[in-house]
Amino acid sequence: MELMLDDTQRELQALAHEFAEREMRPVAAQYEESEEFPWPVVHKAAELGLTCHDLPVAYGGGGVDSLVTGVAITEELAWGCSAIAGCIGGGSFFAGPIVALGTEEQKQRWLPPLCSPTDPVVGALATTEPNAGSDAAAMTTSAVRVEGGYLLNGSKTWISCAPTADVYAIFAQTRPGSRSKGITAFVLERGDPGFTIGRKIPKMGARCYPAAELFFEDCLVADDRRIGDEGTGFHGLMRWFDVTRVALGANGVGIGRAALEYAVEYAREREAFGKRIHEFQAVSFRLADAKMKLDQARLMTYHAARLADAGRAFSVEAAQAKLAGSEAAWFACWAASMTLGGWSYSREYPVERWLRAAKLEELYEGTSDIQRLIIARSLFA
Ligand SMILES: Cc1cc2nc3c(=O)[nH]c(=O)nc-3n(C[C@H](O)[C@H](O)[C@H](O)COP(=O)(O)OP(=O)(O)OC[C@H]3O[C@@H](n4cnc5c(N)ncnc54)[C@H](O)[C@@H]3O)c2cc1C
Repeated sequence: MELMLDDTQRELQALAHEFAEREMRPVAAQYEESEEFPWPVVHKAAELGLTCHDLPVAYGGGGVDSLVTGVAITEELAWGCSAIAGCIGGGSFFAGPIVALGTEEQKQRWLPPLCSPTDPVVGALATTEPNAGSDAAAMTTSAVRVEGGYLLNGSKTWISCAPTADVYAIFAQTRPGSRSKGITAFVLERGDPGFTIGRKIPKMGARCYPAAELFFEDCLVADDRRIGDEGTGFHGLMRWFDVTRVALGANGVGIGRAALEYAVEYAREREAFGKRIHEFQAVSFRLADAKMKLDQARLMTYHAARLADAGRAFSVEAAQAKLAGSEAAWFACWAASMTLGGWSYSREYPVERWLRAAKLEELYEGTSDIQRLIIARSLFA
């Protein structure tokens, strides 16, 4: 598909593809089974600048400030393995609110370790709580002002990279009862007194990309750990999710493309009733639909990214990109599963892993219902 990328964008896309093919594909199944954090792959990605390619050069990042370039890279890494790609992107995900709301001192303190080419630190970003997922403004983790800082109490759940992270962007309520208007961002570091990392949640898929609970018990955070003014956290988070949702659109396309390519090769070779199975229209039409849905999602993703790069509003397009990418990924993995028949159910083939990975796309950073809510609101605004 012609994406009208410039030479630099093409080069970075090719770099990510080569990395995905050489370093991610061969170990994806192994990490899915072992559920270990893929540190060796993350380190190799860091050497190439793929971990923090989107962070400013001033803090050691790659300085790629174009979201179009970002999605070109993301699709390739997700094609390699979306779970490992999540681990590679853990630092950038944490960094978003700091880049947007943090002071120069805070950026100097927390961004360079994420960008280290030899010993990168992983970060996590925590909004979800046991009773506040889609409705993030309902969070009850409290940050009460005390002398010299804030006292945090509460818990978070489903926090990606939490078991391996060293730094955490935590969103907490500084004005109880005021929902989004009272949400404030803080940075916590592993080992802070009163801050504990809870159990690792056993997952259906993307198993080497760990998620865990976090607990805060009279956890004292100094004033210089607050990111932005009190009450600015929710707005900052939503603006950051606009960006990450576009990236998740590309993530879905990458997973679905992996499944489609595999299914096409399989359908070329596999025979039934004396024919190659792609000669059955039922098989080839399913794959044709998958191709169309993936291309649609890719176009929507690039459209949203181009709006972002042009400094235009793109929240609705970001929701559309994430929704389209998630649904295309799910459809393509389903179509691939139908193509492989019973063999798709074997863990010795990659399709079931991609299918489980695709499921996640519909759930995190706003479920598909929440993306529809954003799109519907824009219709009736
Ligand atoms: C693998 C994984 C990794 C994650 N990583 C992170 C992370 O790093 N950081 C983090 O903070 N969170 C993370 N999450 C949490 C994720 O963002 C939430 O699970 C998600 O936002 C949904 O919240 P919930 O699970 O509480 O579902 P609920 O909010 O309880 O929703 C349940 C159902 O109700 C529907 N629903 C709810 N409200 C509405 C509405 N207004 N309109 C229509 N339907 C609605 C939902 O779509 C869903 O179908 C992760 C989750 C997973 C599974």
